[in-house]
Amino acid sequence: GGGRGCVTLRGAQIRDLLDSKHNVLFDCDGVIWNGEAAVTGAPEVVSLLKQRGKRVFFVTNNCTRPRENYVQKFSRLGFTDVAEEEIFSSAYCSAAYLRDVARLQGKVFVIGCSGVMKELQDAGVPVLEEDEAADREPGISIYNYPLDPDVKAVLVGYDENFTFMKLAKASCYLMNSECLFLATDPDPWHPLRGGRITPGSGSLTAALETASSRKATVIGKPSRFMFECIASQFDLDPDRSLMVGDRLETDILFGSNCGLSTVLTLTGVSTLEEAHRYRDSEEPGQKDCVPDYVVESVADFLEALEE
Ligand code: PLP
Ligand code: CA
Repeated sequence: GGGRGCVTLRGAQIRDLLDSKHNVLFDCDGVIWNGEAAVTGAPEVVSLLKQRGKRVFFVTNNCTRPRENYVQKFSRLGFTDVAEEEIFSSAYCSAAYLRDVARLQGKVFVIGCSGVMKELQDAGVPVLEEDEAADREPGISIYNYPLDPDVKAVLVGYDENFTFMKLAKASCYLMNSECLFLATDPDPWHPLRGGRITPGSGSLTAALETASSRKATVIGKPSRFMFECIASQFDLDPDRSLMVGDRLETDILFGSNCGLSTVLTLTGVSTLEEAHRYRDSEEPGQKDCVPDYVVESVADFLEALEE
């Protein structure tokens, strides 16, 4: 066991780390907020980083809101100076991928939510309009629903209205090997209040991967694409960029995949024990989930930024 990483940062070390970086990428849920509550001190940290000349970006796997909606959330939670251009969500990046990388000629069949729909619409990516009432007409079943020959991609994300019918349709479209298979993010589940969880996009993607015998191309963290998306709009040097996240398998792995320094905060999903387990593991690949640094909370940055 043993090995590098998981260094708990204190006062002067935080200052040295921040001094060496120009760009700070924050995961959202579990790092700067939990649901509808800002993490204490997070709004001040974001403002102070900007006042010190740092560039700040927000990288979230949450595909349920369009960018403009995040701007409102930031302001509601007391983040006063966050611009739409700084927010990179898995929904926004999925739309960018379909438009700019895949250059999709045809329609997307979406398993997802309004955030995904809005971003696709804003990007000018044609979406198959589903008529859910028509699916419930008497006589309509898995044997005879209509399939649209223009569908050239399936995009799966978080969907609280996921149904067997949607799974059936998506798997039929994926029978065509030319049809792209994308997932907004691989998140397995998310914490809710009161000790509950909700299944994440990854669990719906897994169902469709099984049904189609195919593997989805993941857009969100830990895929490098989200970093490429930011880098295509802003000039980003990975060596001078820091990724701050709460989930080892997405945020920290994302940072490792993109060559960024990584900080784990303990205000979200992953624990220090889990980080140590990755660090002490002998299995290949596990080290990529080990954060370089650990802090209790982003509030620990405050001291280093004040005065
Ligand atoms: N997707 C959904 C549906 C969520 O509810 C959440 C967190 O609340 C996430 C993804 C994860 O978001 P983040 O990447 O900001 O932690
Ligand atoms: Ca998170």
